[in-house]
Amino acid sequence: MPQPDILKITEIFPSIQGEGLRQGEATLFVRLSECNLKCIFCDTKYAWNKGKNFTTEQVLEKIRKLRRLFPTEWVCLTGGEPLLHDLRKLVNGLKREKFKIQVETNGTIFQPLPVDWYTISPKPERYFFKPEYRKKAKEVKLIVTRELDFEVIRSLRKKFPTETPIILQPQSNRKWSMKAALKLMRQALLAGLKNMRVSVQLHKIYGLR
Ligand code: SF4
Repeated sequence: MPQPDILKITEIFPSIQGEGLRQGEATLFVRLSECNLKCIFCDTKYAWNKGKNFTTEQVLEKIRKLRRLFPTEWVCLTGGEPLLHDLRKLVNGLKREKFKIQVETNGTIFQPLPVDWYTISPKPERYFFKPEYRKKAKEVKLIVTRELDFEVIRSLRKKFPTETPIILQPQSNRKWSMKAALKLMRQALLAGLKNMRVSVQLHKIYGLR
């Protein structure tokens, strides 16, 4: 793990949360570099390597500046895999500034942090996630790849409380993936699975980051 006070950052930018239950909410994004998985369908491959080192204070200063132009209470820490970095100082700093914090993670790493919203997105082939997220995840997002089959969905549905939605997210809003998402949704309904949803990536429809 890198030094606690140095964070490798790919980009920091204001936008609209395009995914999941928080879709449509104004959000400041901090994209941390590097990922411990290398998914073939990843739409942020540029974050695997590209990035610059910043101290936590430099990141906080950038966020303060952005908030003056784009006043929102939400910050989303994303990646890559943000939890490859020690986020304690950054999260505590954001909390002091009264931000609400979302973390988007593939679920393979857990850090005990005062985060308001965990989005976990387990990835093939094992769809592994840390057990802490069973209670802590606010939503589980599954990318509808050609390999995603119904048994994975059924098994994940059993592992999370019913109030935690499982969201089928088409791969980069592609038509074949949307069709597959609807087919999987129908299977889920016929099998009696609760709190299942399909979604799109809103930011891509609007042409945003
Ligand atoms: S876990 Fe997410 S960020 Fe990492 S390679 Fe897979 S899709 Fe990309």
